Amino acid sequence: MNFVTVDLEWNGSYVKKVHGYFNEIIEIGAVKLDENLREIDRFQAIIRPAVSKKLTALVTDLTNITDEDLSDGGTFTGAMAAFRKWIGKKETVILTWSTTDLLVFLENYRYFCKTDEIPFMTAYVDLQAYYQRQRELPASQQVGLSRACEELGINGEDVAHHRALGDAILTGRILQKVYEADTFIKTLCKADDDFYRRITFKNTFVTDPESPLVKKEYLRFCCSECGKRIQFKKKWRPRHRAIAAEGICTGCEKKFTAQVQIKQKYDSVDVKRKLLPIKEVEDTENNQEGKKEHVQEI
Ligand SMILES: [Zn+2]
Repeated sequence: MNFVTVDLEWNGSYVKKVHGYFNEIIEIGAVKLDENLREIDRFQAIIRPAVSKKLTALVTDLTNITDEDLSDGGTFTGAMAAFRKWIGKKETVILTWSTTDLLVFLENYRYFCKTDEIPFMTAYVDLQAYYQRQRELPASQQVGLSRACEELGINGEDVAHHRALGDAILTGRILQKVYEADTFIKTLCKADDDFYRRITFKNTFVTDPESPLVKKEYLRFCCSECGKRIQFKKKWRPRHRAIAAEGICTGCEKKFTAQVQIKQKYDSVDVKRKLLPIKEVEDTENNQEGKKEHVQEI
């Protein structure tokens, strides 16, 4: 089995035809490693933009790619055909640092080739997620590529950062450092329909109190002062990305605002509950510091 680390550079612009932003790939870089994780080949291609001919200042500054560089580039379909050929017939795992590049691949394949999948990919690992799991870091604290290199003592002085090939090389070096056969195999995703549904799924917040996802127990709160039940006389209403209601303690009669945030993910639902004491009018303005927040676990 081979491993191929891939990195992309793209240029984002507003496109009337799709009524939104489109991230057009302008460069692809990749590194091939054999089953012993030895680097055996490199791939690099510049793609001449067909949608937005002008590079944004952000892209030019970050990558140092100029409009002139791009004029020598090929088409997206041409570059992808060459890339597929380069990957070859051997069983290969594709790796990227976070799924962002993968989503940009999908966006471009959809736009240029009218397909909803990445044809060269049969198995995939998000190396950023794997790295964070290996180091037992929370998924919410995403570690950037340069930071991970620093943490692992990887010297990247010989490669161009923020260029596709340079970043693909660094991703390969990270893989060499963190790879562990048994944990790696568990992280491996088969690129099937379920996989594409999962990576393109957008988490949503429930803001309708009548939604069936709002379970009764989510709305039950106990007073943070005396432990008695809180009664909600007013209706639950949408508030920011959550639902909220004011209630009063049936024991000590303290007033509270309860807030429940329900996040619907692809295969789970996250619930965060907060209970905030409502201060008497005279001290709310001067005494914001003393605002106590009480989080109850379900
Ligand atoms: Zn109470």
